[in-house]
Amino acid sequence: MDASGGARMNCDVVILGAGPYGLSAGAHLRNIRGLEVRVFGEPMDFWKSHMPEGMLLRSPWAASHLSDPNAALSFDAYSEAKGEAVPRPIPLESFVDYGLWFHKQAVPEIDRRKVARIEPSSDGFRLILDDGEQFHTRRVVIAAGIAPFARRPAAFDGLPTELATHVSHGSDVRRFAGKRVAVIGAGQSALESAALIHEAGGDVEVIIRAQGIHWLGWRARMQKLGPLANVFYSRFDIGPAGVSRIVAVPDAVKYFPRSVQDGFRRRALRPAGSRWLIDRFKNIRVTTARYVESAKPIGEKLQLRLNDGSSREVDHAVLGTGYKVDITRYPFLPAELSQKVTQVNGFPRVGYGFESSVPGLHFLGAPSSWRYGPLMFFVCGTDFAARRLASHLSLVKSRNGSK
Ligand SMILES: Cc1cc2nc3c(=O)[nH]c(=O)nc-3n(C[C@H](O)[C@H](O)[C@H](O)COP(=O)(O)OP(=O)(O)OC[C@H]3O[C@@H](n4cnc5c(N)ncnc54)[C@H](O)[C@@H]3O)c2cc1C
Repeated sequence: MDASGGARMNCDVVILGAGPYGLSAGAHLRNIRGLEVRVFGEPMDFWKSHMPEGMLLRSPWAASHLSDPNAALSFDAYSEAKGEAVPRPIPLESFVDYGLWFHKQAVPEIDRRKVARIEPSSDGFRLILDDGEQFHTRRVVIAAGIAPFARRPAAFDGLPTELATHVSHGSDVRRFAGKRVAVIGAGQSALESAALIHEAGGDVEVIIRAQGIHWLGWRARMQKLGPLANVFYSRFDIGPAGVSRIVAVPDAVKYFPRSVQDGFRRRALRPAGSRWLIDRFKNIRVTTARYVESAKPIGEKLQLRLNDGSSREVDHAVLGTGYKVDITRYPFLPAELSQKVTQVNGFPRVGYGFESSVPGLHFLGAPSSWRYGPLMFFVCGTDFAARRLASHLSLVKSRNGSK
């Protein structure tokens, strides 16, 4: 029996998650001499299993690199190593393959088991894995993404998955061939799913609350202004003119009043579709300024009643209704631990090294955007996050040994 209550001390840092943030963090932390790091999770799982087949990335090339200490494992390096040009916009399968290549180069030893539970212990945390094995670590870096945060409007509560699914639910749109499908939402994943279902032979109607679809891609259109475009837009192309430049520097975001920071997040993350989808929307019905008030199963169909009193009978509703960060929904965080994390509207308050109010518990990716802004929702935030985490942990290590 040791001070931790029985589990053997296994390492200094556990990274929970092997998506873009976990892989990048792993690549940087492995570089810290004497720091024992273990990464858990199925590499690129969210991208492999929760995105529609045939999807193209919304982010431009410059915003789609994972991060390693020597900047040697960029998308360009991958493309060169493969000896083939990657099309642009980047297809989903190329991005997944890039992530897996990055994993093999930068963080080859990944434990693919799931972490079922994190418990605090006297000198760190006890991790319980899905096969029951227990593990002890001084620090945990949660890089578990947004999958548990999928937002479902209340009208769809209790419906079976045969009738209504969130876009993050399934990847094969071919099952909708010959079916009537309502796609709810006006963000990239809703709009792209609608295009893919239409192209797969589904009869699609997109239902959105707004007066129209907001199309992204102003930076590309301003490219004709040459370097002037860079005055307004960063290379990551997140957010509208001006905002795009500010949010590209995550350290700058916190100097703005809270209400302005919230405005940055709203404007940078507002529902919108990539401009290259416009042509694919020519034959897709879009109903604007409407929302679903109720959804009822009628035999094998689903009846949707909209706020104008009209109704639709469909085979399936696809909910492209976004994600709302709420760390209490991470299934591996028990209430006694999540309650100790100081939170604002579901976001943990994180400090300089992405550390929460619970010492040794760090959050990367979307949950860290309360402090570091909307970049943290995207792959392009990995470089800042992984470098900052590594510099923080090397400082702590040189101050306290491995603690
Ligand atoms: C449809 C869609 C399209 C998108 N397109 C883009 C885009 O073009 N460009 C862009 O920059 N961003 C895009 N995003 C946002 C994207 O989700 C993030 O950029 C990115 O996935 C963040 O990486 P992450 O590592 O935080 O999370 P994830 O990629 O979700 O990775 C989290 C990992 O943690 C693992 N995990 C979770 N729980 C556990 C557990 N208990 N134990 C072990 N492992 C666990 C998961 O298996 C997963 O592999 C898109 C999102 C969606 C939904």
